[in-house]
Amino acid sequence: ATPLNQEELQALLEQLAKEAPRCFGEGRVASYIPALAEVEPDQFGIAVCHADGRVQCAGAASTPFSIQSISKVHALVLAMQRLTPEEIWSRVGREPSGQAFNSIVQLEVENGIPRNPFINAGALMVSDMLTSRLVMPQHTLREQVRRLAATPTIDFDERVARSEMDHKARNAALAYLMQAYGNIHSDVELVLDTYFHYCALAMNCVELAKSFAFLANRGVNPNDGTRVFSEIHTRQMNALLLTCGLYDAAGDFAWRVGLPGKSGVGGGIVAILPRRMSICVWSPRLDSYGNSIAGRHALEGLVSGLRFTPMG
Ligand code: GLN
Repeated sequence: ATPLNQEELQALLEQLAKEAPRCFGEGRVASYIPALAEVEPDQFGIAVCHADGRVQCAGAASTPFSIQSISKVHALVLAMQRLTPEEIWSRVGREPSGQAFNSIVQLEVENGIPRNPFINAGALMVSDMLTSRLVMPQHTLREQVRRLAATPTIDFDERVARSEMDHKARNAALAYLMQAYGNIHSDVELVLDTYFHYCALAMNCVELAKSFAFLANRGVNPNDGTRVFSEIHTRQMNALLLTCGLYDAAGDFAWRVGLPGKSGVGGGIVAILPRRMSICVWSPRLDSYGNSIAGRHALEGLVSGLRFTPMG
């Protein structure tokens, strides 16, 4: 099928934004920290960044929100750029966990090695790798995200970062358990601070779509022409996003949407249509897996409307 032209895609995005309020009766905003519990639930934004860098959007696509677990991808990109495959994959796996994103159960049976880098335990592990390698791991990630999105104003929401630290018990338990297995090398409190700052990045749909565009463009960031990833790394990251990006709902997301994706409890979901576009949707009401309800619904609508998916 021929791809939609610019006007057709714009009409589709507008239609998805118009239909999103139908999902506003379901789900609840994240409430594990006060800073997120206060977010106005009935909001929706969508943005796509084409592989050539053009952006189209609809709804509240320039409203900033807490990117939360979507930052696990940016952090893994930094690690894959700087560490050898052996240094990374000896300490974190690449298999779907089939458990909630913040689950601790598998860590004990699997010797403190998290199933994958997109559950909390795995992201804490990646934060440890970056904390022990980089002089300023927070600064470096922020610079990376600013460059990827070609937006120098992106920053942490310090209120969210502090709120995470004030309610750190569960993530601290994950990190200390991994330390007990000898699989955390830096100071645990420093690792938590790094991880919480990554989660607390505030970005909007347009910025997030732009920051993922290199994954839809064989590793080259179309916003500034620089190579971020080799083609092999790009393929590997997209594969990992397809199998592990939505935690224990990854199978259902693949069934409904069929694209590599990553969600966060701030209500954002980023998805990649390889060689075509990156997409970011945002709506704060979450299902029981911690994934945006209206966001997932809009991605299903987008994929049907595009008349093209990698799955057939
Ligand atoms: N900050 C959240 C946590 O650590 C991130 C989880 C998420 O977005 N799924 O629990």
